[in-house]
Amino acid sequence: MKPKIKKFVRKSLLELSPYQSAREEFVNDGREMILLDANENPFPTAVNRYPDPMQIELKSRIANWKSVDPNQLYLSNGSDEFISQIIMACCEPSKDHILILPPTFGMYKVAARTYGVAVKEVPLDASFQLDVDAILKASDGQSKILFIPTPNNPTANCFKASAIEYLIEEFPGLVVVDEAYAEFTEHNSFVGLINRFTNLVVCQTFSKAQGMAGARLGMTFADPDLITFLNRIKAPYNLNSLTINAALQRLEEQELVKEQVAFMLKERLRLEAAFEEIEFIKTCFPSDANFVLIRLDDSSLRYQQLLDQGIVVRNPSKNTACENTLRISVGLTEENNALINALRKMDQ
Ligand code: PMP
Repeated sequence: MKPKIKKFVRKSLLELSPYQSAREEFVNDGREMILLDANENPFPTAVNRYPDPMQIELKSRIANWKSVDPNQLYLSNGSDEFISQIIMACCEPSKDHILILPPTFGMYKVAARTYGVAVKEVPLDASFQLDVDAILKASDGQSKILFIPTPNNPTANCFKASAIEYLIEEFPGLVVVDEAYAEFTEHNSFVGLINRFTNLVVCQTFSKAQGMAGARLGMTFADPDLITFLNRIKAPYNLNSLTINAALQRLEEQELVKEQVAFMLKERLRLEAAFEEIEFIKTCFPSDANFVLIRLDDSSLRYQQLLDQGIVVRNPSKNTACENTLRISVGLTEENNALINALRKMDQ
């Protein structure tokens, strides 16, 4: 039998009655209405009215696109906001913990610590894959969330789907599969499995392939009961009208997004080939995303040399198993050329 969502969320928040936004009681039946309920400035600008708190139109379009029911979808101010909210919703501070798998995306730990929630770390194995036995060994009744970003950041590879599925079946809490880079990989998304597993939560974002990092829009796919609960604890207007409109527009441009993704993947191959020729680059790790992790002779030196030539990359060397690495995003052709030229100019 599938476990009920109540099992995963904090008891103290279960009875919470949410803040009711001004316009939620009235049903828009298509009539022109005079809006005197929310103390707004009545003079029209593009944004003088509050946005739709439940983002009905955008959700219905995204649900259609992703083949889910709108009640299986939650929208947030970037995936970052969702990561904080799911920890707040499910973990009792000073009692429960989350599990992360370093090297991993940094926000899981920051968000947990912010809420006074402990973090257990189970490193990836030597091939940057999941150490399933160690993860299950480290889990107990207080393990509320396991965060699995795939493709992983900063290593850029996908994890084996069978290992993730096994963890969804065996882990005692929620498994959040973070698919921020989903559009760049041919591996299947886990969104299709949310009907099968109540403890599976999948998040994706408009920040990467969709080209809307500045607008802040994250999508979460999960059991409708968990979505209801996230809706209860969210700020009433967590998505602004500008973002909602930009996303509706972007949904019309998916052919263009596909072209841009294909371009980035082709440019990634070109970068990888160029890295092969550079002697101080020791390893270029296999990537399923729009960035690559490379290991080189001295990451601090090379990072600084790139900065001196006006190029900013990421130095994740302080992360577990990432000594002497740099993480490099795929840019426009001219930007990638500049990077290759800058690396070639450095002494070997
Ligand atoms: N998850 C992963 C794995 C990421 O790499 C990032 C951004 N670097 C995020 C989530 C955050 O995404 P957003 O911009 O939607 O907050």
